[in-house]
Amino acid sequence: MNQNFKTMQNDHLPIAIIGGGPVGLAAAAHLAKKNLEFILFEAGTSVGQNFLSWGHIRVFSPWRYNIDKVAEELLMETNWTSPDKNTLPTGKELVDNYFVPLSNHPMIKPNIHLNTKVVSIGRKGLDKMKTANRASKPFSIKVEENGKIKYYEAKAVIDATGTWNQPNPIGSGGVFAEGEQELKDHIFYGIPDVKLKYLDRYKNKNIAVVGGGHSAINVLLDLEKVQKKYPQTQLNWILRKDSLERVYGGKEDDALKARGALGVRIQRLVDSGKLKVHTPFYIHKLTKKENRIQIEGDLNGKTKTIENIDEIVSNTGSRPDLDMIREVRIDLDSALESVFDLAELIDPNIHSCGTVRPHGEKELRHPEKDFYIVGSKSYGRAPTFLMATGYEQVRSVVAYLTGDIEAAEIVELNLPQTGVCSTNFSSKKPVEACC
Ligand SMILES: Cc1cc2nc3c(=O)[nH]c(=O)nc-3n(C[C@H](O)[C@H](O)[C@H](O)COP(=O)(O)OP(=O)(O)OC[C@H]3O[C@@H](n4cnc5c(N)ncnc54)[C@H](O)[C@@H]3O)c2cc1C
Repeated sequence: MNQNFKTMQNDHLPIAIIGGGPVGLAAAAHLAKKNLEFILFEAGTSVGQNFLSWGHIRVFSPWRYNIDKVAEELLMETNWTSPDKNTLPTGKELVDNYFVPLSNHPMIKPNIHLNTKVVSIGRKGLDKMKTANRASKPFSIKVEENGKIKYYEAKAVIDATGTWNQPNPIGSGGVFAEGEQELKDHIFYGIPDVKLKYLDRYKNKNIAVVGGGHSAINVLLDLEKVQKKYPQTQLNWILRKDSLERVYGGKEDDALKARGALGVRIQRLVDSGKLKVHTPFYIHKLTKKENRIQIEGDLNGKTKTIENIDEIVSNTGSRPDLDMIREVRIDLDSALESVFDLAELIDPNIHSCGTVRPHGEKELRHPEKDFYIVGSKSYGRAPTFLMATGYEQVRSVVAYLTGDIEAAEIVELNLPQTGVCSTNFSSKKPVEACC
């Protein structure tokens, strides 16, 4: 047992996990395997709630990278059927074939609280400024559980709440563009199922997709299919990138073939002329004119208006919810809002890759003892997080919390070497700039 806990009067309390995504669930598996008491709070009606919002999309990493090792060991004790490790699941398949069966494991299920949104976390009876005896006080966790406010206590907290629920606005300065909130009924923040669930909303419409990452590319490739069936559908792509080469990524050289293929397919769509590209475009203002949207911004330093848009899909990244953890002492990078020590490994100003140097409990520590931010939230606003990175994070954190310092310090990441971390534009050949 962690030396710290031995002396604490709150040793009898559980460890709280916040968030039932892949990383929170992996933390649960590691704690269950070590017979440690835990409690998991998930805001949604199902585990993997965020994956369900883009359940129709196929991920780019095959199953073998998406399943935590200890979680798999637990699942093998049940009648779970392991998926073909070389295939690519959709978001929904990940939920149905992995997250839900794991959450139903008899050592995990009784500890999961669905429909339970954590509102705030603090140290019981101590505000943020008080230091004396701080580490010996339990965490007090305020939740809204099935609509009712409740309080729980825990001896440690693992915050795995991701960032997907906090989308960035489309305003280029990171704040809502003028008119953005007024026109919110015409803006979808996320990845709508344009081919099925939202077909009526998008078919034969003039659509602007904002953002330069894989989510925007996925939306555009789906909209291309809508356009084929409904030829009056018009597509616009608004990005801030100086060069589309960076957006296309490693293409055939990407070790994650499906991710590389996205680059190839979007380049083909751009080259076909069926998609109008506006880049580098910085959005400032949205106005409504005759029931359609005018998007005003800067294109190459000059004011430009994109006219007659019916619908906007925004994929401009997301940010961590910091309100919830305002009363705990955390150390974040001022630009990325990532855990401080991770920033130099993942800063997208320097790196554009999906792999990072292995890191664990030590890098994830905060001034607040026994409080950890893991999963995509640990990367803050940086968009390159992979599930496998989170599995190693929680393995290390749980090892530390059980007093196995040696295991906590040995961190290993088995991720594909992408070879596409950044692009050398002069030679047009991808070079490995990080990892
Ligand atoms: C289209 C798409 C494709 C992707 N493809 C891949 C891929 O191929 N490979 C890969 O490794 N990664 C991929 N990713 C990234 C992957 O989704 C993230 O790495 C992963 O979701 C991070 O897991 P997480 O558990 O940290 O957070 P999340 O999955 O975001 O889970 C967070 C959970 O916390 C819950 N929650 C939030 N706030 C609260 C609160 N206050 N109280 C209680 N619960 C709360 C949420 O409901 C959610 O269930 C992809 C992402 C997208 C969008």
